[in-house]
Amino acid sequence: MNSIFAGLSTTIFETMSRLAREHDAVNLGQGFPDDAGPLDVREKAAEAVMTGWNQYPPMLGLPELRRAVAEHYARFQGVALDPDSEVMVTSGATEAIADALMALIEPGDEVVLFQPMYDAYLPLVRRAGGVPRFVTLQPPHWRLTREALDAACSARTKVVLFNNPLNPAAIAFRDEDLALLAEYCVHYNAIAVCDEVWEHVLFDGRTHRPLIGFPGMRERTVKIGSAGKIFSLTGWKVGFVMAAAPILKVIAKAHQFFTFTTPPNLQAAVAYGLGKEGSYFTGMRADLQRSRDLFAAGLAELGFATLPSEASYFLNIDLPASGIEEDDVSFCQRLVVEHKVAAIPVSAFYAQDAVMTVVRFCFAKRDETLAAALANLKGVA
Ligand code: GLN
Repeated sequence: MNSIFAGLSTTIFETMSRLAREHDAVNLGQGFPDDAGPLDVREKAAEAVMTGWNQYPPMLGLPELRRAVAEHYARFQGVALDPDSEVMVTSGATEAIADALMALIEPGDEVVLFQPMYDAYLPLVRRAGGVPRFVTLQPPHWRLTREALDAACSARTKVVLFNNPLNPAAIAFRDEDLALLAEYCVHYNAIAVCDEVWEHVLFDGRTHRPLIGFPGMRERTVKIGSAGKIFSLTGWKVGFVMAAAPILKVIAKAHQFFTFTTPPNLQAAVAYGLGKEGSYFTGMRADLQRSRDLFAAGLAELGFATLPSEASYFLNIDLPASGIEEDDVSFCQRLVVEHKVAAIPVSAFYAQDAVMTVVRFCFAKRDETLAAALANLKGVA
């Protein structure tokens, strides 16, 4: 069949999770925690299923959740949002990204993408008729440069699709990078679609800096967040999209015909969760940081060279620096079959000029899971 989508391969996350099941491997590929998630938030959802509203909620989301989202971002990031006109609930951040791209891109518009990029971005940009222009970031620092932005941006740039913190690189962009990007968005009159799903998952005392807070960005940023990452409940698929009213209005037109709504009981539970006290969020970060440190120490002991992990559920290894002369794809295939550990080859996040030397592991797992993976990795490096 002649379709942009017919030519796509199955997402690397699904592929690796399937291989992990087939080979009975420890799955450190697809990014999801292996614990149950916060009990009180799950209880709220259960209660809402049993005693609450189970028919269509309002198209833009439950008013209580939109208010909770606005309050949450005012509290944690100093962003003032009008819950009635600047916040919409979606079925996960991926839906929010799809809505924004379908609504904002006209065929032939240029869209700037930053490689490594989350694997959903490029097919959605293409389906919307966008012309991709790539900025390629390099390990180990993955910094933005003026030269790369000059080469990718032009008067035809309509949207800049940005992810901060960056999956799979596991870095949080620095203020200088964000200020530079903001300068280019303003100069080229582009809209920044900013996927910030990892905004609460930062380590070593870092705090998240939303792009929408930079000069000139309030009116041209589409900010996207996700309860899945905030509450370690990745299967819930409750996301939020925030933008100035004229932009959000157009994005809502796409949402109404894609999913229309998101399960109301999960929305109610997320509204409750977003109001939790600060200690929940710092505790979640501290737990993940401990897992990161445990796994990083184990890898180092086995002779693997790791890259800095500043944010997200991920820790990357550098193959050549670990003494492994093999590309990331064949390494990951061999790893899952012969050593029973699933990981993700980072080259899957590039459309061109792929970096083939980096492999991503998800450390958001119980200690036993990490220990089992480390035992299987013995002798590999
Ligand atoms: N965000 C998750 C990751 O990066 C995967 C989500 C998915 O499977 N589509 O691993």
